[in-house]
Amino acid sequence: MEWHSVFASRMGRMKASEIRELLKLLDQPEVISFAGGIPDPALFPAEAFRAAFEKIFATGASAALQYSVSEGHRPLRDWIAGEMGRIGVPCTRENILITSGSQQALDYLGKLLLSPGDTALLGWPTYLGALGAFNAYEPRYDQLTPGGNRGAEAYRQAAEAAGSTVKFAYVSADFANPTGETLSLRERESLLDLAEALDIPLLEDAAYQALRYRGEAIPPILSLDVARSGSIEAARTIYCGSFSKTLSPGLRVGWVCAPQAVIARLVLMKQAADLHSATLNQMAVAEVAQTIYAEHTEMLRDTYATRCAAMLAALTAHMPEGVTWSDPEGGMFVWLTLPRGMDAAELLKQALEQERIAFVPGGAFFADGSGRNTLRLSFSRATPEKIETGMQRLGKVLRAALVAA
Ligand code: PMP
Repeated sequence: MEWHSVFASRMGRMKASEIRELLKLLDQPEVISFAGGIPDPALFPAEAFRAAFEKIFATGASAALQYSVSEGHRPLRDWIAGEMGRIGVPCTRENILITSGSQQALDYLGKLLLSPGDTALLGWPTYLGALGAFNAYEPRYDQLTPGGNRGAEAYRQAAEAAGSTVKFAYVSADFANPTGETLSLRERESLLDLAEALDIPLLEDAAYQALRYRGEAIPPILSLDVARSGSIEAARTIYCGSFSKTLSPGLRVGWVCAPQAVIARLVLMKQAADLHSATLNQMAVAEVAQTIYAEHTEMLRDTYATRCAAMLAALTAHMPEGVTWSDPEGGMFVWLTLPRGMDAAELLKQALEQERIAFVPGGAFFADGSGRNTLRLSFSRATPEKIETGMQRLGKVLRAALVAA
């Protein structure tokens, strides 16, 4: 069978990630990895989940094992609506759809908004999983520069010249993956201005929002939008939240908070895709969120804050001149820019072979294929001691590469 001839055109855009291939090498022992952007499993609230599952099976097993509604488990939607209110977004459960991780929300939003050839605005670099989700709907991309001086007309004309229409802008406002950077209040307001001028929705990816380690919290874009437009029903921002970084990524529970007109459409997608997210997992997340969310996320912030500070200090101590990095106030990532002309993918090979350390080369995060001299480091899983050793080794590999260049 000549499989390529039967695949749909969208498959042409869906490539195996070169990062995944490289990361297979990481199973070797003694490699210190700063590659995976995943939570430290030692910090999972395992005991709280054990108690929650036990309670569910003692009292509500038949509901937990049954099909349930596509919108999601009511008590969980109520809890999320309350939490959204606490961060400045007054809403009700009718504004909340539970998804199987926020990754599913990105896929649904691509499906909802993109016809082939449409333009999506996003940052260079951007979250790889967002590019992966959107690529299936065959868009073109244009570079979003929050706070930059490119106005609505410039975006509109660029799209028109390509025979396209701008359909949405996608941003991660807090501690973005991969850069760790946060949009200022002014940048958030100017993004809303741009979205208004183009009359497009703004997709706010809030996967890391709960993980702020220092500095003042900045209101989510959706809350600024609600303040402008008077109510969530009049807003243009679609907020994607997740329990993956706070409670458990393995249970695959995330949510969308948006005007009911959007939720109603997304519910149809959920019905077509998987009917609903796992009932049992939603019930367990509701139970654990209701009991320990505040104290658990506080513990996570304390622990990750120490690791983040250790990485920033170790970078200052060990990076050669010409290397610069972001200054994250939360999340899991620091983003390095190497001197122009250096190739982080090449550097990764040397780092793995010579110094047994790993990171993610930055190129894959750029929709236009640029960014080869960038890389992403995650501090979420390493102890401060490992971070110190790892950055010392990275400095060594970088110095050797700079001498060779
Ligand atoms: N958005 C961002 C920015 C992420 O980094 C991730 C996970 N790495 C996701 C969304 C998806 O997470 P999940 O599906 O587990 O909620």
